[in-house]
Amino acid sequence: MQKESGHLVFGGVDAVELAETYGTPLYVTDEDRVRNNFRRYNSAFETADKYYAVKANGNLAILKILASEGAGADVFSGGELQLVKSAGIPMGKILFNGNSKSEEELRAAVDAGVKVSVDSQDEMRTLSAIAVAMEKEVEIAIRVNPDVSPKVNPKIATGLRESKFGIPFYEVIATCEDAKMLPNITLTGLHCHIGSQILDVSVFREATEKMMNLVEELYARGMELEFVDLGGGLGISHRKEEKAPTPNDLADAILPTFDARLDSLGIKLKLVLEPGRSIVGPATILLSRVNTVKQAYKKFVAIDAGFNLFMRPVMYDAYHEVVVANKLNEQASVLCTVVGPVCESGDILAKDRMLPEVERGDLVAILNAGAYGFSMSSQYNGRPRCAEVLICDGKVDVIRSKESVDDLIRNQVIPPRLM
Ligand SMILES: *Cc1c(COP(=O)(O)O)cnc(C)c1O
Repeated sequence: MQKESGHLVFGGVDAVELAETYGTPLYVTDEDRVRNNFRRYNSAFETADKYYAVKANGNLAILKILASEGAGADVFSGGELQLVKSAGIPMGKILFNGNSKSEEELRAAVDAGVKVSVDSQDEMRTLSAIAVAMEKEVEIAIRVNPDVSPKVNPKIATGLRESKFGIPFYEVIATCEDAKMLPNITLTGLHCHIGSQILDVSVFREATEKMMNLVEELYARGMELEFVDLGGGLGISHRKEEKAPTPNDLADAILPTFDARLDSLGIKLKLVLEPGRSIVGPATILLSRVNTVKQAYKKFVAIDAGFNLFMRPVMYDAYHEVVVANKLNEQASVLCTVVGPVCESGDILAKDRMLPEVERGDLVAILNAGAYGFSMSSQYNGRPRCAEVLICDGKVDVIRSKESVDDLIRNQVIPPRLM
């Protein structure tokens, strides 16, 4: 991110020109950043499989990029399975997750031949019955609730005792024993995912210890596995003073424990990771035009993107840095609150920030918007979703066209009696 004529330059392209050419709001992704973020995992974890968490950003172009880098995928729905199939991610490198999979989704997983992370004993029995009926075999992992606190916003902590995800730690061994008895399923892995936007990697060491305790217990009972999947969750830096851990830091937290425990058991297991945010989050900005500026009890800068397009500030109290993309050289001297166009007083994207003197027509960039940004967007308030573009070597491609009003009414039906 460098300055040039006071304009934000992203991926080598002037943000002001992007907004003029493609309109706003606009999600802009830098392909190099996606690739580099993935490669950092490849160098920190040479032998591990990396299953990119598709829910962070399911754009097909981004999935294609990651497929070309050797990524597998963590999918959470039949729709995400379809996306990664379309992107050409090999079925052998996919784990189908979910705490509430429909029978249709389980059938799709069995049919595709992907591994399934089982979230309850009930689901395991259902999956077995489905596989029997389809005359297919399915490999499963047990989603473990490791009861580890990741020290993050409770809405993104997924391995707490009271979380809806996974089988309680104390029932995992019994569930694995049950799995042996069920036809057409084979237990090959243990899986956990403790939370998201984690900045203190020591919690990953704790989770690794707990998972390896289970592995040890299973081997003592004569059961064997192929992999341990420790999930995703590595945080990214949202403030200049906030230093995010790198994949290398994550490796330092996990690998000594993981390797030592395998050595002492005299076994080999594949490590699987499921990074989402740390791959795509920093690779994208959201450009949004200022519609109006108002000095009320506070100074409000009202832009054309709200929580319809970027939910994280509202949903998770997430802090995202905001810059005025056409005024980078101007002094940030005015205290502003940046709000969206949605008819909700909670539609706040950035609260009490120092920005330059802003006026109608200025261009705001929300940084690090690539994860859980577009993928959580909606059409709330009758707003078609915006476009997404991808930059590579200074060239820009549209990777999702913007929706139109037709998309708002596409599936709506007026009963004839109302015509
Ligand atoms: C969301 C999720 C991930 C990715 O988490 P990030 O914080 O984006 O890295 C990985 N695994 C599972 C099971 C998830 O639900």
